[in-house]
Amino acid sequence: MTDCLFCGIIDGNIKAEIVYRDESVIAFKDIVPRAPVHILIIPIAHIPMLSDLMPDDDKIVAAVFRVAGKLAEQFGVAQSGYRVVVNCGVDAGQTVFHLHYHLLGGRQMSWPPG
Ligand code: AMP
Ligand code: ZN
Repeated sequence: MTDCLFCGIIDGNIKAEIVYRDESVIAFKDIVPRAPVHILIIPIAHIPMLSDLMPDDDKIVAAVFRVAGKLAEQFGVAQSGYRVVVNCGVDAGQTVFHLHYHLLGGRQMSWPPG
């Protein structure tokens, strides 16, 4: 996907502060952090959004959540609490159409979300 921002980060063509990488998942700091800890965890495969996931992708999704838990520990929010959010589509505010999971922590969150 040549015109995808997050594929550009994966390929190294766009700079980002990468905090984790393996064969199926990459994580980097959000450029506009909405909380003291705000990391994006994404599959390396270009999957536009949650509703595009196929059964073969189940392992990738499991890996994303495992990495989220580990990063929450690494960034010191595992005890205080954190949120993992996927914005899907326009109403939810999705702006980048490469599936990504926001890991947010380090402050009190409100509910329901805005
Ligand atoms: P969403 O609105 O759920 O699609 O989230 C997209 C996220 O990508 C936003 O939180 C942006 O701040 C973030 N973002 C956009 N460009 C970059 C970039 N170059 N590096 C890191 N994060 C980015
Ligand atoms: Zn992409």
